Amino acid sequence: MNAEIIAVGSELLLGQIVNTNARFISRQLAELGINVFYHTVVGDNPERLKSVIKVAEGRSDLIVFTGGLGPTKDDLTKETIARHLGKELVMDEQALESIQLYFKRTSREMTENNKKQALVLKDAQILPNEHGMAPGMISESGGHIYMLLPGPPNEMEPMFLKHAFPALQSKLGTDDVIVSRVLHFFGIGEAMLETEIEDIIDAQSNPTIAPLASDGEVTLRLTAKHSQPNTAMMLMDETESKILDRVGEFFYGYDDTSLMYELSRLIKESNMTISAAESLTGGMFQQEFTSIPGAGGLLKGGVVCYTNEVKAEVLKVRKDTIDNEGVVSAQCAAELAENVARLTNSGIGISFTGVAGPDELEGNPVGTVYIGIWIKGRPVQTEKLNLGGTRAANRVRTVKYGCHFLIKALKESQDV
Ligand code: ATP
Repeated sequence: MNAEIIAVGSELLLGQIVNTNARFISRQLAELGINVFYHTVVGDNPERLKSVIKVAEGRSDLIVFTGGLGPTKDDLTKETIARHLGKELVMDEQALESIQLYFKRTSREMTENNKKQALVLKDAQILPNEHGMAPGMISESGGHIYMLLPGPPNEMEPMFLKHAFPALQSKLGTDDVIVSRVLHFFGIGEAMLETEIEDIIDAQSNPTIAPLASDGEVTLRLTAKHSQPNTAMMLMDETESKILDRVGEFFYGYDDTSLMYELSRLIKESNMTISAAESLTGGMFQQEFTSIPGAGGLLKGGVVCYTNEVKAEVLKVRKDTIDNEGVVSAQCAAELAENVARLTNSGIGISFTGVAGPDELEGNPVGTVYIGIWIKGRPVQTEKLNLGGTRAANRVRTVKYGCHFLIKALKESQDV
């Protein structure tokens, strides 16, 4: 089955919002083994919408629409499709009831045009909207499947997962169970990771392996299909272990995890607390650490030591270090990490000092960063990075590398 996604909304064309729905739907369709060959974005204009529907009909079996199911005049997706297919719009009593209930529950007054949201294409399969008002629908005509989904991602995504996904599965005539798993890697680029496992990717059709890179991280999504869930899992386990045999040293976790989450988990296991001394990251490490649910009690505190004065007076970096080695140095990072931990009575100290950009500092090029790690009972450790990206990217990556090195150090200290 070949599919095309048509996102309807002038705000998408104006650049006011990003078409995240297309990404979400594409990923889900890929899991079903449905090929997505086109993404189209069209404004709230019936003529132009009609013309893209005609083009889509010439090249796709499944046409998925998002947006334009709301109550206002510019919401015209289903009206345009109804006219194009020569289908009537009929009131769906169940959808109407749930819209009325929605207004009652939220103590808001229902206006007449809200009823419009309960109009559906005659004979369509209804996809209930459990997080909003407009129901989704699936309608078939002339050998094509038309799927209409609401625009707001918080309505569309749960609707897709709960109702649209199984509906498509049954249309594909398969009882196969589809399972997927995401593997997270850090410290290896996408190109390098793909090269390392190229033959595994090429030889593999079940599970499929889809790489994705963002913010200096790489993920692999494995998706397996089988009529028996246990066999699907087994196929995935086998492929995972082949992959990890090659690039396991860069692997840090599964599915919805993050480097920061893995770090907080290890700190908890160590029964210690952490403190941070942050120069170029300006508190970013601590901000991200505290955003992890359950991280409470693990971060003792920290110092944003942006100036030499604070590094010297608050964190007691030696004058000799500042004068002779500079603040962008391994020695400075080492003293910052150890001293912030001692100052706040933590078992773990981490520090970040370096040149975020745009200008160089003390003769060090943009992207030169030193990270200090001190764990009680172990010698202080430092790592040097040469990032060379933009100021914003360098700060984000510095925090990620800090997590990565500290995760490694904590694992090593636990193994001893
Ligand atoms: P509503 O009932 O809220 O009007 P709708 O189905 O008519 O829903 P739109 O009016 O097209 O949807 O969009 C509503 C909001 O949903 C947009 O303002 C935007 O925040 C979000 N949205 C719409 N389309 C997309 C998309 N393709 N990707 C991400 N977000 C989207």
